[in-house]
Amino acid sequence: MALRKIFTDDAPCLYKTAKPVTEFNERLHTLLDDMKDTMYNAEGVGLAAPQVGVLRRVFVIDVGNGPVEFINPKIISTGGVQGGYEGCLSFPERRGYVERPNCVVIRAFDRYGNTFELKGEELMARALLHENDHLDGKVYLRLVKEPPEGFKE
Ligand code: ZN
Repeated sequence: MALRKIFTDDAPCLYKTAKPVTEFNERLHTLLDDMKDTMYNAEGVGLAAPQVGVLRRVFVIDVGNGPVEFINPKIISTGGVQGGYEGCLSFPERRGYVERPNCVVIRAFDRYGNTFELKGEELMARALLHENDHLDGKVYLRLVKEPPEGFKE
């Protein structure tokens, strides 16, 4: 268990497309364990491997129901719309209003190479889409817009 450095702002690793994981080995398990430690230490709800400088398609999320690990995830479907403020451990001190689908179905592998499907709504949907974007070198700042008039958090 170890904390990894979180890359921020204009670090090149945040803007590159990550490669799929091909081996579900001890090295992957160490990465996942370190990423969870790093996420909790920074009080985040999600962390993607490119944020710690590893260009692999891996992220972890904990929106309050315990950690879930996603490897080689694929968004299967989305529905609805939600708007809310979002932040990112790679852009500390910043927040912005972002609209995203309210519901997401995602398929991924667990750390042992088994596939699973998960449906996320509201905060979980937001986190899934935010972290999945990191795997394609996309950061949430590109989506930030003015909140609708009278929007309350
Ligand atoms: Zn982020």
